[in-house]
Amino acid sequence: MASMNELYKELKKYGRVRLNEPMRKHTTIQVGGPAEYLVSVNDNDKLVGLLSYLSGEGVPFFILGGGSNVLMSDNGFEGVVISVETNKLDCQGGKIVCDSGASFSSLVSAAAANSLTGMEWAAGIPGTVGGAVRGNAGAMGSDTSQSIEDVYIWKDGEIISLQRNECDFGYRNSIFKKDGGVILRIIFKFSPGDAKEILRLTSDNIAGRHGRHPALPSAGSFFKNIKLANWPGEPGLLPAQYRERGTIPAGYLIEELGLKGFQIGGAGVSQEHGNFIVNYGGATQADIIAVVEAVKEKVYNRYGVELVPEVEIVK
Ligand SMILES: Cc1cc2nc3c(=O)[nH]c(=O)nc-3n(C[C@H](O)[C@H](O)[C@H](O)COP(=O)(O)OP(=O)(O)OC[C@H]3O[C@@H](n4cnc5c(N)ncnc54)[C@H](O)[C@@H]3O)c2cc1C
Repeated sequence: MASMNELYKELKKYGRVRLNEPMRKHTTIQVGGPAEYLVSVNDNDKLVGLLSYLSGEGVPFFILGGGSNVLMSDNGFEGVVISVETNKLDCQGGKIVCDSGASFSSLVSAAAANSLTGMEWAAGIPGTVGGAVRGNAGAMGSDTSQSIEDVYIWKDGEIISLQRNECDFGYRNSIFKKDGGVILRIIFKFSPGDAKEILRLTSDNIAGRHGRHPALPSAGSFFKNIKLANWPGEPGLLPAQYRERGTIPAGYLIEELGLKGFQIGGAGVSQEHGNFIVNYGGATQADIIAVVEAVKEKVYNRYGVELVPEVEIVK
């Protein structure tokens, strides 16, 4: 492996390098100790070059998008955190070709500006397109996978293209979560729509989110919702809207247990929304995990269901 000095010099070829950079500055929940190296990369060729170099040298690396769905360790990261800041975005007819580091909101805006429908639901979701593809981000019954045509990834030294049906997309899931790979570029395909209607829906969704998102730092919904088919209790006792929808919001179960505002250390369940675990001030990963475990235990003891985190916990 390269010496620290050699590694630092090499990393500078690919982008801005910061040493011992606190990850809490780069995550929306504002938690995480120092990354030994944080490299910001804004060009796909450089990203591929850096990935090849690090894998060749056996240096551990972690890919960071917008940091809106991760909970980093209090010990930080030993190795290189790559902040993906590639952001080319090109609209060609009904298609948008987009670098993985482009903000998800820039994709929503580009679709709207070109009178393309299909991304209105995503207005107001933070993070990058790469993070949204890996986690198949979704809201209001839609998700990212629905508009994807192809995904280009770097994996084991090769650039591979996958068609949508090869990506194993599911509820907040994809092949990239299971088999890894760094998402480089995505081709989205949309239908033409009515410009005014697209703008109206987009701004309504942004306004709606302002009321729903807690003001304190978070990583979005912490737990996945539960499919009705996996509900061990009597479905008739659930509110009709959840039976009709076929999913039970994790936040509903947490709120029913009176856990809004429940705190350990600097972390706790939001006062506004049962499925948001927020940083009340100075929270550590250990505080958040203590809250997560306590909530999981209480929900399991009461309902017999195991809550599964949606947020990526990096230990
Ligand atoms: C206030 C708030 C509201 C939210 N609302 C929603 C919502 O409605 N729906 C929803 O689905 N989510 C929501 N989220 C969660 C989050 O915004 C999304 O999951 C988002 O898509 C994550 O993208 P990111 O770039 O921030 O990913 P990050 O948090 O940076 O990374 C998440 C994971 O993806 C990996 N990753 C990132 N980029 C790449 C890449 N290029 N290649 C391979 N792996 C990569 C990381 O290594 C990590 O494991 C919300 C979050 C917040 C804070």
